[in-house]
Amino acid sequence: MERGDHEAHPGDPSATLTSPPQHMTPEQFREHGRAVIDWIADYWERVETLPVASTVQPGDIRALLPDTAPEHPEPFENLLADLDRVIVPGVTHWQHPGWFAYFPANSSPPSVLADTVSAGLGLIGLLWSASPAVTEVESHVLDWLVELMGLPQHWKTTASGGGVLQGSASDATHVALVAARHRAAQRSGRHAAHTVAYTSAQAHSSVYKGAGVAGFGHVRSIETDERHAMRPDMLRDAVAADASAGLVPAFVGSTIGTTGTTAVDPVRAIAAVAGQYSLWHHVDAAYAGTAMICPEFREHLDGVELVDSYVFNPHKWMMVNFDCSAFYVSERSALTEALSIDPPYLRNAHSDAGNVIDYRNWQVPLGRRFRALKLWWVLRSYGAQGIRQLVRHHVAMAQELAERLRDDPRFEIVAPHPFSLVCFRCRAADATDEAARAADRATDAVAAAVNGSGTAYLTPSQLDGRSIIRVAVGQSRTDREHLDQLWKTISEAAA
Ligand code: PLP
Repeated sequence: MERGDHEAHPGDPSATLTSPPQHMTPEQFREHGRAVIDWIADYWERVETLPVASTVQPGDIRALLPDTAPEHPEPFENLLADLDRVIVPGVTHWQHPGWFAYFPANSSPPSVLADTVSAGLGLIGLLWSASPAVTEVESHVLDWLVELMGLPQHWKTTASGGGVLQGSASDATHVALVAARHRAAQRSGRHAAHTVAYTSAQAHSSVYKGAGVAGFGHVRSIETDERHAMRPDMLRDAVAADASAGLVPAFVGSTIGTTGTTAVDPVRAIAAVAGQYSLWHHVDAAYAGTAMICPEFREHLDGVELVDSYVFNPHKWMMVNFDCSAFYVSERSALTEALSIDPPYLRNAHSDAGNVIDYRNWQVPLGRRFRALKLWWVLRSYGAQGIRQLVRHHVAMAQELAERLRDDPRFEIVAPHPFSLVCFRCRAADATDEAARAADRATDAVAAAVNGSGTAYLTPSQLDGRSIIRVAVGQSRTDREHLDQLWKTISEAAA
């Protein structure tokens, strides 16, 4: 068929070669937008009736998709219908009240609405002047969090430090490692291949990965104590040995609330080693950081006023949708010295005068979303009071579960549980290896039974070579009836 012979089709570029593609009309957008919000509200209403974990097999979802991308526009109703037909079967429901796996990733109505507005504004906050509101709301709300979470005053943007939203704790840790590498290179004049990073054997994999990406020559895994917290004496020995071998100790990563068991490293004692050897000290409080909104958890912050950087994830436990990771530094110049770029097309009077924050120099990517909007809306919608209530509710339920486990001779708790994660296993009949293996099999079977039940989902894991089960109580819809259901399933599976 010759061009021009065929019927014009909306959106067909050959029909309107020099015009922009047709958007929905504002009226259509309003109508479909309402339908999408209705769909989400219905989803939240019915999520509890769905099996928590998706049961599709690899390739099942792709098999439902056409082989080629659409050449012609489709009605929006088809897109919406495919949410139920294609997507929902392949969703593992993190918003289900029976979600006890990994750590939570809570979604919430104000956060979803803010993210929608952010998408609608469609801006890229690469410099202050590219959209001043993006930077200023972010700086301001992160300064609020310093007060709200009892963090050191000098981490505010109005002092020497400052907060910035990164996409993930992994990104934040990576940035901390890059700043540490830069500082060590300035100080020692040595190549990154000679630098050493230290973290506990229980630290999140992102510390190890970030050190590799940042070009550290060596990463040392420091032994932990019986509470799974880093041993500062072992750290000191490792750093001293490396220093006397001519290497450049440059970074130590502590954790407040490890992924494995929520162990808390002794930040103050680690800071003493970091101070002695000029290490950049970064604290990863990805999950547990949200608990600091309640003063009763702040004993776990002991020593953070001495560290160089700190991260926690409002996208885990604070009802802010992924992605929203709050990263603080005590000296913002350490970030900007390591990460500043200044091509001519980004120059502008305010940046040149140095009287604005340009967050592009606090992160790896240039472009950035308006993430602060959802954090701002969540804080305003629930108030600090609402978030404290959520944290205390989860912690109380986790402690109740721990009591049930402790009172039942079939189980044993394997680690302290200062927040809302409880780790346990089936108790071995005696101290022999054979009994330990049988207990491991029983533990794995309990995890498989719960995860196959459709009513709850938890994480089977390993600690010191033995099978354990992690139960993270942190979904915002979880209440006592869901904990009772979980306990019933655990108890029946272990019978
Ligand atoms: N650090 C800790 C202690 C974590 O528990 C996690 C994830 O659970 C991470 C880092 C990684 O977080 P993100 O997915 O934001 O990179």
